[in-house]
Amino acid sequence: MANAPECLFCRIVAGDVPAEVLHTTERTVAFRDVSPQAPLHALVVPRDHYENAAALAAGDPETSAELVRTAAAVAVAAGHDDYRLVFNTGAGAGQSVFHAHLHVLAGRDLAWPPG
Ligand code: IMP
Repeated sequence: MANAPECLFCRIVAGDVPAEVLHTTERTVAFRDVSPQAPLHALVVPRDHYENAAALAAGDPETSAELVRTAAAVAVAAGHDDYRLVFNTGAGAGQSVFHAHLHVLAGRDLAWPPG
């Protein structure tokens, strides 16, 4: 799927918007969330534009799996064996950027159920 020029995360992937990149693979980019909710809060995104995790899984299942592998690598590289992975899907669930992204949260006690 082509990239979307108006999409913030496509622009980060392209290097047109600055971000603190933590890890890259052929298909994914991981960078720090600008408004961290935990000592480690990274976002892992596919290089290609998909609106949400479900669209990514349907359109490119291998990259969907790579997102999880990258997230695990980011957490472990930061010294965390315990971490939370979150896909907010849809505005009602808290999605605010409509380019699929996997939140990686670690470094503090994480309550369940989430808010
Ligand atoms: P969502 O609410 O699940 O869609 O997550 C979007 C995330 O993107 C939020 O946690 C924001 O803090 C984060 N965010 C928004 N703009 C930027 C940016 O320019 N760089 C890094 N993270 C961003």
